[in-house]
Amino acid sequence: MIIFKKFDDYKKYIKMLIPHGKRFGFIPTMGALHQGHLSLIEKSKQDCDITISSIYINPTQFNNPEDYKNYPVTIEKDIYLLEKNECDILLLPDMYEVYPKDFKSTDIVLDTMETTLEGKFRPGHFRGVCQVIERLLHVVSPDHLYMGQKDYQQCMVVKKLIEQINANVELKIEPTVRESNGLAMSSRNLRLTDEEKNKAANIFKSLLLIKNNMHKGNIQPVKMMAETALNNSGLKTDYVQIAKLKDLTIVDDWDGDTALIALIAATINNIRLIDNLPLQ
Ligand code: AMP
Repeated sequence: MIIFKKFDDYKKYIKMLIPHGKRFGFIPTMGALHQGHLSLIEKSKQDCDITISSIYINPTQFNNPEDYKNYPVTIEKDIYLLEKNECDILLLPDMYEVYPKDFKSTDIVLDTMETTLEGKFRPGHFRGVCQVIERLLHVVSPDHLYMGQKDYQQCMVVKKLIEQINANVELKIEPTVRESNGLAMSSRNLRLTDEEKNKAANIFKSLLLIKNNMHKGNIQPVKMMAETALNNSGLKTDYVQIAKLKDLTIVDDWDGDTALIALIAATINNIRLIDNLPLQ
């Protein structure tokens, strides 16, 4: 694996050494890699000729300074894992590289994405995501961009970004990888004790509770049942919601037909976790 800290070095390398027509797969990350990230690398390896990953903890997407300060950093292990999984190129830029003095980003129209679910609880978060992904897409020019279903709303936001900046890239959304107890893998799980991880598995249990109790008509009671179960297990709930899969409009009455997704955000010991489950 070749590591580039400077984008210009990456661009020169690609231009000089990669034959024209090779397919590039890109996996942007914030590091502290786990099997969820590695599943994206694996998928890119299957589909593409060259797999590129980046590690950059993007300050502009953190609405909570404590969360940014405490974000886990395991760079040596990350490099080892990427090499073991045969990632071809790792971009490891610093802040000056990602946001140079003359940096300008497109003002993306995010509509309800900014006011609902994560958008509501993390003001400015998706603006930051758009900034960094726009910059990285511009540098990397991938054919495929791989992102995890775990951050489904982020995928929807990046879809809007791709459309609005007219980027010639295909977004591939890959399934959520889970621990054996159902907990969605996340870099933030590194900050949980074993006991907290067991408690956090109740997020997935609550999603399953929704899935198993869905019925046509008023679904508010199903949401409330899941929220009560979650609160009783010692987690602090930000939201338990059910929304349309296609655009994340919140649904209170279900026609029995529209494809839906259940989404949860909850905090345990000040560590905020999110997860979701498509209901069909
Ligand atoms: P992050 O490092 O948290 O920014 O995540 C980088 C990418 O990995 C994003 O596209 C995430 O959605 C994806 N990802 C994170 N956790 C998982 C998981 N458990 N399963 C699948 N993809 C994941």
